[in-house]
Amino acid sequence: MGPSEKIDTVPELLAHALAIEEEARERYGELAEQMEMHHNAEAADFFRMMAKAEAAHCEMIVRRAEGMTLPHIAPWEYRWQGAEPPESVDVGEVSYLMTRHHALWLALRAEEQGLAFFSRIVETADDPEVLAIAGELAEEEREHVALVKKLLAGSPAPEAGWDDDPDPPVLGD
Ligand code: ZN
Repeated sequence: MGPSEKIDTVPELLAHALAIEEEARERYGELAEQMEMHHNAEAADFFRMMAKAEAAHCEMIVRRAEGMTLPHIAPWEYRWQGAEPPESVDVGEVSYLMTRHHALWLALRAEEQGLAFFSRIVETADDPEVLAIAGELAEEEREHVALVKKLLAGSPAPEAGWDDDPDPPVLGD
């Protein structure tokens, strides 16, 4: 974030937060569906749980924004680097054979990026209310990161060969 890209108003912060959490919720939901389609229940269940957690974030932000008019921000005007919001799982890395361990890993990276985004606002904001809300949002992401890390500790990496499929699906175009 450059100095001219600071988020300095509460509506602007909430518009960003809502976009981040909505995208994260949708992405986790899509992943859960994909994994269900491939009968990968362990990854599907985990993604479903994360989608619910993000949905709870969205509701909280919507409640917080009640009575405010959030600015409409064009996709290219969001204050994050890259085309995607920081808290979304990178679909380029998704395999339908992924184990719970891989699902957790992808989510950890996404949640850590969300945490980094809100932490940066805490470091750069001047407005005390922006600072306080960004602090709360960062704290929630910190809880998500901690939860995923705890789950990861109980889901060790699979043996080599986890992605060998004796009967791979036909990928059409
Ligand atoms: Zn989160």
